[in-house]
Amino acid sequence: MLKGKVAVITGGTRGIGLEIARKYLQNNATVIVFGSRQESADQAYALLCEEFPNASIGAMAPNLSDYNSMKEALTEIRATYGSLDIMVNNAGISASDNIYEYDPENFENIMDLNVNAVFYGSRVAAAIMKEQGGGVILNTSSIVSLYGQPSGCGYPASKFAVNGLTQSLARELGKDNIRVNAIAPGVTETDMMKAVPQEVIKPILSKISMARIGKPEEVANAFLFLASDMASYITGVVLPVDGATII
Ligand code: NAD
Repeated sequence: MLKGKVAVITGGTRGIGLEIARKYLQNNATVIVFGSRQESADQAYALLCEEFPNASIGAMAPNLSDYNSMKEALTEIRATYGSLDIMVNNAGISASDNIYEYDPENFENIMDLNVNAVFYGSRVAAAIMKEQGGGVILNTSSIVSLYGQPSGCGYPASKFAVNGLTQSLARELGKDNIRVNAIAPGVTETDMMKAVPQEVIKPILSKISMARIGKPEEVANAFLFLASDMASYITGVVLPVDGATII
């Protein structure tokens, strides 16, 4: 489904991002994963090379919260691989601090990665994609972007912003043949979920129509569909992949 495409996946070293990398590689894309450190990027690179020995794979660790670092990395990728067709802004962090004790610095850290990095990645990728005649930008949102959460307001606030960027950029970039969509996972079995306190998880679990949490692979399937030409007339959507979580 993605033969000949070059895809960058931020936070591609574990969890949902790593599964997206696997899906894309299974479908013959060139995949470059971005990690938070070169060490974790190298580990994911070694793992993916073992699983896909004939594939074209890269791994880097630019500072996603720094525009110049992102620009340098994506420009280098375009020069090395010839294009940048799919930009997946997936890296994200969560927090559950209550408002009375919320350290403003933590709020800024969440915004730096969950929002600013999405803007930087989209800004650089869009310029490259416009020049080459089109492309696809995919952002990882969350179902908490639809109804908030009872503590840790920075995280849902950041994902509301991701939806805003997605819908606005879809409208702005459609004429340049660049599609922009978001996937909003529900509770998904990754390291991030393990760090969320039970008092936040439990009430959500009881509201999942399918009565189980999601697997990273199930979320990655949506990323495959929306990146592919099968979704050629879909832009500006925030697609929940949440087993119908009704809050
Ligand atoms: P995870 O913690 O397993 O993975 C997060 C990824 O982000 C890792 O690859 C990590 O290297 C990267 N990352 C973290 N901090 C970084 C930094 N400062 N710089 C660069 N990269 C950094 O979590 P996950 O569940 O796979 O999360 C992926 C995305 O899915 C996030 O945007 C998250 O908000 C979203 N999400 C997850 C769930 C869930 O239940 N797991 C639900 C909804 C949305």
